[in-house]
Amino acid sequence: MSDIQTHLFVIFGASGDLARRKLLPALYRLMQSEEVARRCYVLGTARTDWTDEQFRENAREALRDKGYAEQEVSEWCTRNLYYQCLGEEGNDYEGLRRRIEQLERHRDLPGNRAFYLSLPPSIYRSAIEELGEVGLNASPGWTRLVVEKPFGYDLESARALNDHVHQYFSEDQVYRIDHYLGKETVQNLLAFRFGNAIFESIWSRNHIERVEITVSESLGVGGRGAYYDQSGQVRDMVQNHLTQLLTLTAMEPPTSMSATAIRQEKVKVLNAVQQPDPATDAVFGQYEAGTIDGESVPAYRDEPDIPDESITETFAALRLNVANWRWQGVPFYLRTGKRLSAKLTQIAVRFKGAPVSLFQESGQPCIPQNAGCEMRSNELLITLQPNEGFDLRFEVKAPGGSGKMELETQQLSFSYQDAFGPVPDAYETLLRDVILGDPTLFVRADEVEASWQLYAPLLEAESPVHAYEAGTWGPNEVERLLPQWTSTAR
Ligand code: NDP
Repeated sequence: MSDIQTHLFVIFGASGDLARRKLLPALYRLMQSEEVARRCYVLGTARTDWTDEQFRENAREALRDKGYAEQEVSEWCTRNLYYQCLGEEGNDYEGLRRRIEQLERHRDLPGNRAFYLSLPPSIYRSAIEELGEVGLNASPGWTRLVVEKPFGYDLESARALNDHVHQYFSEDQVYRIDHYLGKETVQNLLAFRFGNAIFESIWSRNHIERVEITVSESLGVGGRGAYYDQSGQVRDMVQNHLTQLLTLTAMEPPTSMSATAIRQEKVKVLNAVQQPDPATDAVFGQYEAGTIDGESVPAYRDEPDIPDESITETFAALRLNVANWRWQGVPFYLRTGKRLSAKLTQIAVRFKGAPVSLFQESGQPCIPQNAGCEMRSNELLITLQPNEGFDLRFEVKAPGGSGKMELETQQLSFSYQDAFGPVPDAYETLLRDVILGDPTLFVRADEVEASWQLYAPLLEAESPVHAYEAGTWGPNEVERLLPQWTSTAR
């Protein structure tokens, strides 16, 4: 028996890119599962003047592009409805409420409603207010509000948005999306850390030298230039996605796997991270023209909608210190950028080396302080995309060597794809959790504020932005933070 109750899933911004590429396909796939099948009705809304049939055709096209069976898609689409509630002249939330109530009466629905704001961030406030003012913040069943990223622009605006949301909705109704949390491999970090005591016992400053978190993209800003130029890489990627990876890597074991226990530990980590100093702990960059996979790509400033004189960062590298008993003194390096050499999301944990190295070319033992002493370290690479999996690197004796012991690095590897086949899309996981009422993988109000607070000095400072060639790993100045990064594509 499924815990999923029959409900109405209302998408605001149903004619947009996210709805087409992610939300509608995720809802379709969920409906193919036994637990959701026939329990979900979709109501799209936007400014576009569509009929139900035009909305269905848009969904059919989106799903056709993904190769789903025509017959099943068409059947699913008959359950989807559309209402033009947003308009240039004014919005019609009263009309939306009436439409919802009418629909629930006709289809005998119990009044469970999810409202997904897939709208431009500039109109989150008005949408939330209007939902509240017409009484759509409560219903005979459950009511849940899903808010897309970005949640705020800085600490002040995130606080103001939280206050605004809480005027109309209680925190347990709110689901702030960071789609990274829906990725199987990100959730697997919890299983990996807390289901395997062998790693947990060495997961601290006693054994770890440093942690590197890389989220690199080979793509540029695409059609998002106007939005992106106002935000940059710290707001667009660091404050949310990389920070989520940091908290999951560094958090203490929760007292249970409940949403409250997990989110509590994540906030504790964030509160322990010291604010980075823009002058010493951060390097920013912006891409110049270059070549990626054999193709020439333009400079950031030559992308559509980007001003010629833009100084927005498309690359950021940071060093953070988590000032608590487990991590004090272990640097966490964060690196993310657009138009880098490869698409890669990876957490690289570098363990401390042996105190004395016995395997030197000279045959003499040495310690790290000796000039030329080559120390080797074990590394654990947790790759979240592409080719999700783990690699644990260690040293073995290379065969032969005529009496000399020569070491070679080898690795134990686990591939998610080989073990389990394709992993579900993050949005499928997250939408299922919304309709199940499980907030574990969503960002709590205090968490989003703690994260903005952490980066406040970087957002306020006017730091230099160094040029880097597209197709490289960022500006040369990154070496100032860390000369050699461990992360590599699998
Ligand atoms: P789009 O611009 O493609 O779509 C925006 C939607 O909002 C459209 O359906 C538009 O429809 C509607 N809309 C309603 N009122 C307005 C208005 N006043 N101005 C402009 N549009 C309006 O955006 P996306 O779908 O890409 O993004 C939606 C949200 O999701 C944003 O907050 C974005 O940050 C977030 N997001 C998007 C991702 C993506 O991959 N696309 C990834 C992560 C987050 P109409 O014109 O018919 O009114």
